[in-house]
Amino acid sequence: MKLPAFDYACPTTIPESVQLLASRDDAKAIAGGQSLVPMLAFRLLQPALLVDLRKLADLRGIEVTENGVRLGAMVRWRDIEDDARLASAHPLLKAAVAHVAHYQIRNRGTVGGSLAHADPAAEMPGIALTCEAEIAVVGKSGARVIKAADFFTGALTTALAADEIIVEVRLPPWPAGRRWGFQEFARRRGDFAMAAAAVFYDRDSRGRAINAHVGVMGVADRPLRLATVEALVNGQTVDAATIAKAEAATVAAIDPPEDIHATAAYRRALAGTMVERGLKQAGA
Ligand SMILES: Cc1cc2nc3c(=O)[nH]c(=O)nc-3n(C[C@H](O)[C@H](O)[C@H](O)COP(=O)(O)OP(=O)(O)OC[C@H]3O[C@@H](n4cnc5c(N)ncnc54)[C@H](O)[C@@H]3O)c2cc1C
Repeated sequence: MKLPAFDYACPTTIPESVQLLASRDDAKAIAGGQSLVPMLAFRLLQPALLVDLRKLADLRGIEVTENGVRLGAMVRWRDIEDDARLASAHPLLKAAVAHVAHYQIRNRGTVGGSLAHADPAAEMPGIALTCEAEIAVVGKSGARVIKAADFFTGALTTALAADEIIVEVRLPPWPAGRRWGFQEFARRRGDFAMAAAAVFYDRDSRGRAINAHVGVMGVADRPLRLATVEALVNGQTVDAATIAKAEAATVAAIDPPEDIHATAAYRRALAGTMVERGLKQAGA
């Protein structure tokens, strides 16, 4: 399918990229192109100018320190898969990224592109929200940091201004011994999730869960954190009874839309099952 006509720029610095984005109405950044190009092909977007971020080498780094993990916006899914440090520095992230699309798409698609695209069923926005990530952005009025909880404002909609680019996402430190699980159900491997759950918790000296975090994807217009489920898990031994209550609380907490893939009731039940399996995985 032919794309609509657009002007194209390929800057080499962040300030130049921001200046180009601010220079015209309807300018858009392009990173891996794996979401944007299909949208152009379907005429869902017709930007006047595409600002290609591929030469911004500063945005390609993965940094692992005692302060957590920093992923540059141009880090690709494949870079995360290939980075052995992340197996211990952020196993939940690594597990989630394994579910993103197919190899060819993971070879080009980027962290920043996924966050900015904000598909409600995408893994990275769900991980960012569940892990209380911070998203660093730069625009014509300067730099700012947006909490993931404030970033996703609706389906394919974020708190980013038109002239802002994401530069990195910062995930808080991941303590050794943290229990975690990531579960996803999709029609075919590589498809977007019909429902997915990311869970983690730490344990106190008596083995009871503390700091429980439970996030779900694919069941609303944006990823969700389930405070009622987290409250139920905290302070408990995560045994079969707690897990059954968490599943029921998940079903009660969400109100998924119906679409061509599933009824609302099916998706609600599926999300409960994903949380159940995630907690079982965490405990195993
Ligand atoms: C067949 C198929 C299956 C897929 N399955 C999945 C899946 O299962 N899970 C999943 O999560 N994703 C999936 N994707 C999407 C894929 O992960 C995309 O790569 C990703 O969502 C967007 O990343 P990108 O780098 O390609 O961004 P692009 O397509 O280049 O851009 C997407 C949007 O983000 C904006 N943007 C890009 N980078 C920045 C930046 N640094 N700052 C500000 N704005 C920016 C663009 O302007 C555009 O609006 C799939 C895609 C396809 C084609």
